[in-house]
Amino acid sequence: MSSDALPETPDAPETTDVPTTPGAPATPGALPEDGRPAGELLAELARLREADLPVRGGKVTAYVYDTGREHVHDLAATAYLEMLEVNCLDPTAFPSIVALERSVVAAVAAKLGGGSGVFTSGGTESIMLAVKSARDARPVEGTPQIVLPATGHPAFHKAAHYLGMEVVHVPVDDSYRADPAATAAAITPRTVLVVASAPSYPHGVMDPVPEIASVAAAAGVPCHVDACVGGWVLPWLRDAGRDVPPFDLSVPGVTSLSCDLHKYGYSPKGASVVLYADESLRRHAYFAAAEWPGYTVINATVQSSKSAGPLGAAWATLNAIGARGYRELAENAMRAAERLVAGVAEIPGLRVLGEPAAPLVAVASSEPGLDVFVVADEARSRGWFFQPQLSYAGIPPNLHFTLTGVSDVEPLLAALADAVKAARAAGPPEVPAGLAEAIADLDLDSLDDAAFTDLLASVGVDLHGGGEPRMSVVNAILDGLPPATREALLIRFLSALYA
Ligand SMILES: *Cc1c(COP(=O)(O)O)cnc(C)c1O
Repeated sequence: MSSDALPETPDAPETTDVPTTPGAPATPGALPEDGRPAGELLAELARLREADLPVRGGKVTAYVYDTGREHVHDLAATAYLEMLEVNCLDPTAFPSIVALERSVVAAVAAKLGGGSGVFTSGGTESIMLAVKSARDARPVEGTPQIVLPATGHPAFHKAAHYLGMEVVHVPVDDSYRADPAATAAAITPRTVLVVASAPSYPHGVMDPVPEIASVAAAAGVPCHVDACVGGWVLPWLRDAGRDVPPFDLSVPGVTSLSCDLHKYGYSPKGASVVLYADESLRRHAYFAAAEWPGYTVINATVQSSKSAGPLGAAWATLNAIGARGYRELAENAMRAAERLVAGVAEIPGLRVLGEPAAPLVAVASSEPGLDVFVVADEARSRGWFFQPQLSYAGIPPNLHFTLTGVSDVEPLLAALADAVKAARAAGPPEVPAGLAEAIADLDLDSLDDAAFTDLLASVGVDLHGGGEPRMSVVNAILDGLPPATREALLIRFLSALYA
């Protein structure tokens, strides 16, 4: 579990509950009888945000993407506001959204091997649509299957879960790259899609896309390239003169590709593109419904009514940064990643996993007794957020760093080295004896949200803020459990959090 889910906020106010205001009605959740003044409400939002991780400045090495160019983010906010109330539900009522989407999709296609596409709310929705197209374009007998490398993004599991499909996992090799031979062996008559990542999120390594696409094509199966995180940094690194292996729609056998603009496109969240080599595959993403007496429904995405704000902001961001800007941002981020890799080699007790092809770096411990989850806690208390990744399929637990245009690696390395020293002195997290076994054997169905909240409190996690939970203990417990048990606990955690 990443600790954004379990807020550890040393400087946070005592409670993150929305405070009740003077004269507020007694019924919990009831609105104030008279609307509250704007200034008061905005001040309350600002106060709530004090507990959040910072979204700018580069001290948070996941979730957020900062160009360091203030005017770009300001422009995106203004463009977002301009389009805020336009509804993408009906492209005939609001032709601006057609013009903007055509422009954004064309810009992405121009850098990623052509094709036609759809603007979506994010990587997960792009992947959901690619999977739906593959399922519907080539119906199979029985439950359709997706062949996915072990390092593939959970969005494919989510798509399979939502769309009534199965994931067939293939192991990765020693360098964490998908294995073409294992992929070929995993294809069955029920396979509707084969996936490769460019790169995978956890370790930033490139799957061998041409080999995997060729294996898929030989079996007559479509191949999706998940370039959600790499799609808007790799082509610019190539333009800047770097050697980037082929990965996009120009590779024979690649039939669709996802590219998130709200990652290395530096657009506000809610921006991604799914590209299809073949326009008929794109049409399988679409949905129309005329089986009711209301307005005609034609949707290209999962959402129906939705704001055009993210689209307007993505269009403005792309055009404000421009080609030279993206080349510079990509180079800065990649140089930061290379400096991080070199710096980690000089910190005893740490090692980098695999060979990152994009500015994403995973750092593991190479020393018994040095626990990366404790390193993350120590870094957090020094003002840095390093994203914990649990062990999986023989891959050790590690910390993930997404470097961006604003990443300043020297202070990051200093904080990391410092946190390692402190973590070595502190030793591994102390999981109370028998607790992990007790949790593994727990009958979760017998607990309601309140009882689960009490259970969390017993391991030092207070869902209502306050205190300083050691995420390392929670991560150590989760790390010792099989994925299915982790998932069951995470769902109960989320339910208790919102209860
Ligand atoms: C981020 C990411 C996704 C999912 O994207 P969301 O925008 O979070 O829905 C999928 N694949 C990869 C490789 C990613 O990095």
